[in-house]
Amino acid sequence: MSHYPHYAPITKEITAAIRARLGAEAVVTAPDTLAEYAGDASTLRFTPELVVRAKSVADVQALLQLANVYRFPVTPRGGGSGLAGGCLPSLGGVVLSTMGLNRIERIDTKNFIMQVQPGVISQTVRRAADAAGLFYPPDPAGMDQSTIGGNAATDAGGPACVKYGTTRDYILGLEAVLPGGQLISTGVQTRKGVVGYDLTNLLVGSEGTLAVITSLILKLLPRPAATTGMMCVFSDMVSAMKAVAAIMAGGHLPSAIEFLDHKCLALIGELLPCSLPGGKPSMLIIEIDGPQGQIDVEMEAICSLAGEAGAVQLIKAASAEERQKIWAVRRQVSLRIHDYAKLYIPEDIVVPLTAIAELVDALPAYERQYGIEVFAFGHAGDGNIHLNITTQDPALEEMARAGTRALLELTLRLQGTISGEHGIGIAKSPYLSMELSAGSIQLQRNIKKLFDPNLILNPGKIFPPC
Ligand SMILES: Cc1cc2nc3c(=O)[nH]c(=O)nc-3n(C[C@H](O)[C@H](O)[C@H](O)COP(=O)(O)OP(=O)(O)OC[C@H]3O[C@@H](n4cnc5c(N)ncnc54)[C@H](O)[C@@H]3O)c2cc1C
Repeated sequence: MSHYPHYAPITKEITAAIRARLGAEAVVTAPDTLAEYAGDASTLRFTPELVVRAKSVADVQALLQLANVYRFPVTPRGGGSGLAGGCLPSLGGVVLSTMGLNRIERIDTKNFIMQVQPGVISQTVRRAADAAGLFYPPDPAGMDQSTIGGNAATDAGGPACVKYGTTRDYILGLEAVLPGGQLISTGVQTRKGVVGYDLTNLLVGSEGTLAVITSLILKLLPRPAATTGMMCVFSDMVSAMKAVAAIMAGGHLPSAIEFLDHKCLALIGELLPCSLPGGKPSMLIIEIDGPQGQIDVEMEAICSLAGEAGAVQLIKAASAEERQKIWAVRRQVSLRIHDYAKLYIPEDIVVPLTAIAELVDALPAYERQYGIEVFAFGHAGDGNIHLNITTQDPALEEMARAGTRALLELTLRLQGTISGEHGIGIAKSPYLSMELSAGSIQLQRNIKKLFDPNLILNPGKIFPPC
């Protein structure tokens, strides 16, 4: 039996009721525009019956109240850059765009706080903090498209995570509209607070299934005085991972330590400022930040450790522009994989640091068994590996999905987790029970029902439909 009730289709009466409460300009019915909201950065597609563009908290409240009266689903959507289909209306209904809630409400430089609406683009948040002489560390690679509300809903991470943690670590408090339409505040505006259950951390990462986030209190840090970076080329992945282990064990905490496998390097080879050795080379991109004198000394130490682990080339960025060029190359990887493959399944597993090399070493056997090609890159410092499972023959999709499941099983055997930052959405919900016990899933479904008795907010996400 389905866990979801029968939802009302969006009728003329419902559309008129939404227009009457939110204003005609908030409601989109043009098929071409609806089609623009049918996808995200995954390969999934579901066209909404209606799109509502909220301009105020009251709009969000009114829409959710109507959804409970008429029983239609509402799917929150930020920048649509998600990789798991979380913002897609898989059970029909209305997509609620939060992009119009896009004000930076205040930056309090004395208390290191920024208050923002959810539709502010993530990169804008970082730049605003920087302009105020402060630092907002989360740096998901899709930050030019994603919103801060979407980052909170997915607990987005990024290269800086190894040193600074994920979005969750920078959210002190939230305002959010519950599925019934009530506005609540959670958390604090202070550096600490333990009053009652931690609802902020329950909403962060809940993928828009428990509430619509309408305001965020972000924690800011002092801006690091300086940053320096480099690329290290190794002749194989094992040496690169030895370097990662040696750097971390040596007491260094880089602000990024990313890796690319030989397949990714082959796709971006011509963009690199160096030639690559034959065989199966791999690369680390390392950044450190802090006082200039300190990071110069630390970079020398890291170079020595990388050399001892077998680095064959060390290319230091001499300026901020050169550092930006390194990141531009890194950002090209997923786009090139996307262009290269006819079928592309993006997974973002995490394994203990000591298991990265074992996992990457095991990939060729899985490629042979399932007829797939796997491109691996990611955040070596926190064991988060983006496994991009591809095939050039879409007819082999079933095999590719079987290969994906087998790789997730391997991840769990290595004491890892099936998603480090992209979330479950629709794409990974078939795998949820591989990691979570039946009791844990039931408890989470009960929490969902407590927040959303009529199951109108983003149904069909995280939990499999039945
Ligand atoms: C090129 C590229 C690189 C990427 N790199 C990274 C990376 O390094 N790290 C990483 O973590 N992710 C990465 N992603 C994935 C994506 O950018 C993140 O998941 C991001 O947090 C999604 O934000 P969004 O605003 O686009 O959300 P959407 O895709 O619109 O929505 C994502 C989820 O959030 C919910 N949601 C959105 N807004 C709200 C709100 N106001 N209230 C409640 N729920 C809401 C939606 O319902 C959905 O479940 C990348 C994506 C791309 C395309």
